[in-house]
Amino acid sequence: MGIIKLLDENTINKIAAGEVIEKPASIVKELVENSIDAGASEISVEVKGGGISYIRIVDNGKGINKEDMGIAFMRHATSKLSSEQELNKLVTLGFRGEALASIAAVSKVEMISKTHDSISGYRIYIEGGKIIEEGEYGCPEGTVVTIRDVFFNTPARLKFLKSESKESMYITDIMQNLAMSHSNISFKYISNGKLVFATRGDGDLKGVILAVYGKQIVKNLIDLNCSRDFITVKGYLGNSNISRGSRNYQSTFINGRYIKNKTITAAVEAAYKSMLTINKFPFFVLHIYVNPEFVDVNVHPAKAEVKFQDEQLIFKSIYHCVKDALISASHVPEIEDDR
Ligand code: ADP
Ligand code: MG
Repeated sequence: MGIIKLLDENTINKIAAGEVIEKPASIVKELVENSIDAGASEISVEVKGGGISYIRIVDNGKGINKEDMGIAFMRHATSKLSSEQELNKLVTLGFRGEALASIAAVSKVEMISKTHDSISGYRIYIEGGKIIEEGEYGCPEGTVVTIRDVFFNTPARLKFLKSESKESMYITDIMQNLAMSHSNISFKYISNGKLVFATRGDGDLKGVILAVYGKQIVKNLIDLNCSRDFITVKGYLGNSNISRGSRNYQSTFINGRYIKNKTITAAVEAAYKSMLTINKFPFFVLHIYVNPEFVDVNVHPAKAEVKFQDEQLIFKSIYHCVKDALISASHVPEIEDDR
């Protein structure tokens, strides 16, 4: 008799959750991205205990109807992708249909949602991947997702979490980047009952930077707005007053998606070379717009990394955009010296 068998759906989801959901901050990221994809103009995020005990995301997006709600929690279930061709020109943040299934596999999830067209809302409650309750529910348009007890059924993962304050910091970092990724959305972020920041959603990126980082940073920014080759770069560069001892204050967004990419970081830092002392890293918030066909976001389950068709060209374009902005900012009119 053979000994190889297919894993059951629940086990598969738990394993997959290991790739997508590393910590509570990953849950916040996935859920907020869903709210953004749902067209929300207001998103509020409340967490307690570093997100381990409680995460609630409220959005005013288009909602999910009752027929779709159970399916949304199934693996590879998505409304954002219907053919392989579409993979090459993604405009939504999600497309893998894995987040809700993964989150539900390792926590206790309640989703309440109502679409514009339905008379009543719908509620589902899932624990460790099993639907416990579902039914009609009165609520306003939009979606509320509440997560409790992250990793309650995977003690090995729970043990690997950091302290609540450290997990909180990871969430703050993600929230800052999500807010900067969409300055046209009003975000509110509350941790342990305290408002950490709120943004206006008026499309002003500098206003968002002020809300998340404060006045000192905003006073030291250089504008960047540049189109070169096939990319457009917009955003802000920090002057040397706000260079940092780490790369924690560097944010790159490609077509509205927060990403990490070594080529881009290297290009920016190369442009700063000679402006900063060794072991100092520039502050920057860069929005890069490029035809989605030139970039592959599907190289990592959490979609944190991207691949460009032509990395060298990207390096060159970013380098020159940043360099030009830095040069014009440092250009002071020469003063006649008649001594
Ligand atoms: P993906 O985002 O990759 O499609 P998810 O598992 O994150 O996969 O979500 C599955 C589906 O559930 C989405 O495609 C979407 O249709 C629906 N959904 C999830 N969150 C929301 C939300 N906040 N508002 C409306 N629809 C949502
Ligand atoms: Mg998603």
